[in-house]
Amino acid sequence: MSSLACPCGHVIKDVVWPLTYDSGVILCDTDEEHYFSKTAEALAELVAATVQGKRLEWMHKYLPHMQDPEYMSKPDAEIIENYMGNFSFYIRVIEQCEKCGRLHVQKKPGENLYCSFKPDGEWQSVLKDIGSQE
Ligand SMILES: [Zn+2]
Repeated sequence: MSSLACPCGHVIKDVVWPLTYDSGVILCDTDEEHYFSKTAEALAELVAATVQGKRLEWMHKYLPHMQDPEYMSKPDAEIIENYMGNFSFYIRVIEQCEKCGRLHVQKKPGENLYCSFKPDGEWQSVLKDIGSQE
């Protein structure tokens, strides 16, 4: 999505950083178990590969598109974050119109088709991150 037209007439754009609207992602119950088990399995293999000095083999298996030698020395957290990005096909995007509060939920991961839901009551900050509410 680079822009999404809301039925209220407002256009939500995600090309400006920091984002001026609220957004998030949804992981459906039916995909959750598969997502977490695949991730846990791969991370357990990363730990074992690192202990055995076979981190490069792990990278070839799980991140074949990241074969730059410089990348091999990146911090573990960055490598794990890139690995977890491989599962974006499980995740649906959710955007909130900053003008009317409608939630726009991506119908299928990776597709630019959305369903809209209009709030019944208070809607401000419903998608604010937890860190910003502390
Ligand atoms: Zn709207």
